[in-house]
Amino acid sequence: MSITVVPVPQAHSNLLPGNRHQYGPNSRIVGADMQRVAMTVVVPVEDSDARADLERYLLEEHRRPGRPYGLALLETQLMGLMLVTGVEEIEAFRAGRVALPVGPQAVVYGGWPSCGHGPWEDIIPATTWHPGGVGVLDEYDGVDGARVTLYEFTIDEGLAWNRHGTPTGKTLTMVSWHCDRCHLPYDFDLGERMDNRGPDDRGWMSRNARVHASGRDGRCRPPTGEMERVVAAVASEMRGQRVELPSPEATCAAEEGCSRVRLARATTARLLAGATS
Ligand SMILES: [Zn+2]
Ligand SMILES: [Zn+2]
Repeated sequence: MSITVVPVPQAHSNLLPGNRHQYGPNSRIVGADMQRVAMTVVVPVEDSDARADLERYLLEEHRRPGRPYGLALLETQLMGLMLVTGVEEIEAFRAGRVALPVGPQAVVYGGWPSCGHGPWEDIIPATTWHPGGVGVLDEYDGVDGARVTLYEFTIDEGLAWNRHGTPTGKTLTMVSWHCDRCHLPYDFDLGERMDNRGPDDRGWMSRNARVHASGRDGRCRPPTGEMERVVAAVASEMRGQRVELPSPEATCAAEEGCSRVRLARATTARLLAGATS
């Protein structure tokens, strides 16, 4: 017997528009109004690294010695949750006979099993919130009327970390944020975008977005264009003719954050329109 993972059909089409998250100390996400079931997992009784890893994470009273585990991996735009129950409950849910159990026969933990590392890395498939991995995850009110958008996007692997790199033909799913006042993050802010493999990655990036929106990073200043003017003046002098460089806003609108957010917004709107018709 090996661990089985069954994605929930159509989970992707349920985008939970208007979902609201609740935050605890240090702006940690502690809950949400709605969630969806991404996949179910059955962990058999036989010893495995994955089973041992799962049990390390569970409280004593929730372990099931000598019995298999049934898990449902729940998610929101920004967080993962794991419902721990028996195999019968998960098999009945997979067969479409019943909803997932609530109450004493099920307990819910925050997070998915060791998402993205350890023995579970190759067991749990990478997922995005939107089908296709492009869309808006959340929005935050920023400094002085700014709008900070958390979004999923796709990019060629060869260009993901270097826009002047060589395309490979392989598409990477990523998550980042964008502020429409200061146009951060810049392309060289490597810590402000990341591989998007699941709810943990989306939640991590939402924290960066919320820190920026709150003004705590002290970086939200509208671009002045001063650097572009200096560079253009030097270039003009060297060539003996006037050289103009586009403003940061223009570059952003054409090829960076603003253009990605525009695509994400349009994609989400189209998906939501399709879902209700
Ligand atoms: Zn900003
Ligand atoms: Zn921008």
